[in-house]
Amino acid sequence: MRFLPVFLDLQSGKVLLVGAGDLARAKLRLLAAAGARVRWFATDGHHDVSGLDDADVARIELAHGDPLAADLSGVIAILCAGAGDVGVAMSVRAKAVGLPVNVMDDLVHSTFIFPAIVDRGDVIVAVGTGGASPVVARRVRERIEAMLPARIGDLAGLIGDFRKSISARIPEFALRRRFWERVIDGPIGALVLDGRKAEAETALQEIADPSAFAGAQAQGKVEGRVTLVGAGPGDPDLLTIKALRALQDADIVFHDELVSSEILDRARRDAARVAVGRRVGKPGIGLDAVNKLLIDAARSGQRAVRLKGGDPFVFGRGGEEIEALRKAGVAYSVVPGITAGLGAAAQFEAPLTYRHEALRITFLTAHKARDAETVDWSALTDTKMTVVVYMGMTAAPSVRAGLLAAGRSPQTPVGVFARVTRPDAQAAVGTLAQLPDLVKEIDGGPAILIIGDVVAHSAPWRQSNPSQMISKLVEAAE
Ligand code: SAH
Repeated sequence: MRFLPVFLDLQSGKVLLVGAGDLARAKLRLLAAAGARVRWFATDGHHDVSGLDDADVARIELAHGDPLAADLSGVIAILCAGAGDVGVAMSVRAKAVGLPVNVMDDLVHSTFIFPAIVDRGDVIVAVGTGGASPVVARRVRERIEAMLPARIGDLAGLIGDFRKSISARIPEFALRRRFWERVIDGPIGALVLDGRKAEAETALQEIADPSAFAGAQAQGKVEGRVTLVGAGPGDPDLLTIKALRALQDADIVFHDELVSSEILDRARRDAARVAVGRRVGKPGIGLDAVNKLLIDAARSGQRAVRLKGGDPFVFGRGGEEIEALRKAGVAYSVVPGITAGLGAAAQFEAPLTYRHEALRITFLTAHKARDAETVDWSALTDTKMTVVVYMGMTAAPSVRAGLLAAGRSPQTPVGVFARVTRPDAQAAVGTLAQLPDLVKEIDGGPAILIIGDVVAHSAPWRQSNPSQMISKLVEAAE
């Protein structure tokens, strides 16, 4: 990030505009709409204020003479648009005295740039691309425009009006934050967005005990809770909206090592982050210790998120964690995530079920060869069953041995799908007979195995085995 978005107080001084023509007039309109007071040096000597209303024109001082010699006292920013070489010289001058300057379409001579703006009254969203692409910024703005309720600015305004009085009545920061969250997410917020601001105001005034409204317990403490959140297999866009909300509300996030930094970046900026999971081959802090951390966090009134790769209830030990929370009397909830098997299936186009061909799915884990030996492979010989193996890289030879011994064909298609939905995702496909070799082709985990005829539909299989694929299709059609 080279350009930090900040908001300029236009009440605190004048903006110096240097330039002429349509470009200068466009900036003039923007400044006028924002209520700025402007001193305008028209570099072509022609102050054309057509299209602006009288109130705006009244705030524009039409300046004459050389802008390079202009008095800069009381000026808070300098803008050059359509100013040619004067803009560059103006930039040198502005930099010398430390005033922020923008020379239109000239990053080198600008110390600030204009974002694309979503303007909803008190709510302003600024979108920037560091000057790289205004078109991308505009597209982002369009999306935000579509997403934001029209009256979100009214909501901010209402809260602004009550902020002081509520601060006095709820001195504790965390509780106060929760108070406002309940206002925004509850019926009062809905009233404002519905255009019924006066009713919302009355409802807000009628809250007799703001602390209780915010969820404070009898002894005045905030109630903490734990949310188990599935982070999905890696792509942050695969987080659910609920997961995102939990992350945005969190005071502290306890996460697996497997969870990528892109996903952690979606958490509230000042939420504490604690890595608790184990890394492959290295011990973690142990489940009991993790549970203790979760319980302590909730008891101290924090909103803790336990962020786990994939889905918390698929080989994620989420079941044991909520058991401990339940025993401790801590409030909790679970937000599902996209499990690695589903991520792999979608990314590599390996449908886990397929009409007539694959009617059942088994998810199993085979962490070590020892685990693989305890699996009853004879239950997995149904050729119409797709088998998805978690933590199966090391145990791949035992997985193959088990399935072959139980009578599955060595020709059964298998796929090893690594780091799925991440930028460096990788696949190796072949037959069950080749499974251990396929695993060797993979440059590092985590990886998941999918075993079954459906793998022959996958994109990597189609790329590597076109002829086999065609014969399969013929077979299927018969
Ligand atoms: N709860 C997780 C699974 C945890 S067990 C889930 O629902 O996905 C860890 C195993 O998950 C890994 O050994 C690997 O088999 C699989 N896994 C997790 N993330 C993966 C990814 N991005 N790509 C491939 N496999 C993954």
